[in-house]
Amino acid sequence: MRPLILATTSTAEEGLRTPHVLLGSPYVIAIEQPGATAVLLTPAHRAESRRHLLDVAHGLVLTGGEDVAPSRYGEEPHPALGEVNLARDEMELALLEEALERRMPVLAICRGMQLLNVAMGGSLYQDLPSQLEGDLLHEQEAAVNARWHRARIEEGSRLEEIFGSADLHINSFHHQGVKRLAPTLRARGWAEDGLIEAVEAPDYPWVFGVQWHPERGEAEMESDRRSPDRRLFWAFVEACREHAERMLNVGF
Ligand code: MN
Repeated sequence: MRPLILATTSTAEEGLRTPHVLLGSPYVIAIEQPGATAVLLTPAHRAESRRHLLDVAHGLVLTGGEDVAPSRYGEEPHPALGEVNLARDEMELALLEEALERRMPVLAICRGMQLLNVAMGGSLYQDLPSQLEGDLLHEQEAAVNARWHRARIEEGSRLEEIFGSADLHINSFHHQGVKRLAPTLRARGWAEDGLIEAVEAPDYPWVFGVQWHPERGEAEMESDRRSPDRRLFWAFVEACREHAERMLNVGF
């Protein structure tokens, strides 16, 4: 059974004649490596196509990208707010709501975790360097494939079981983060400065968010079967497979 997994995309316009769809290839590689098929969903898709894809899909990945518009959590823009993409916000918020209604597994990455928090009623730091005390830089200066800071995962949590460790060494490519955690989310991982790096929505079968980029570990995935980042994608795809089987049973 090969689950079908939707991955959201952004749009790029700079230097191009028309808006283009944008997604880092590591997302596709990381989804497909454990045996799933990735389907890209864009802000250009029509709402009825979005719902059609949700009807046949078995999982959803909310990917990284622009800052979520602060109006979505009732704040005025901070001077250091980055680029926003209103069409993408609208598409992903609708998509997430419909995926949760279907009790579909959701893996929310970086911006995706921030969007998950906002969708469920939380708020964000619009700019960590100017709004969060401490000297841990969350926009790493090291190379893209390097790990930058640690994350402590709650002991005894499902995420600790998935990662196989409560002490992770992760990458960090974000200038925003969770400020007020949504009431339906639980923090399951923290950076050294206390910032939330992993969340779970325990009211749903399999909904997790991570603030780092586990898909960028895909280069090491082939060689290191025990990598926590790789284990996260394998666990997600397994949950999507189980969701697909539940869908078949409901069909009968
Ligand atoms: Mn970080």
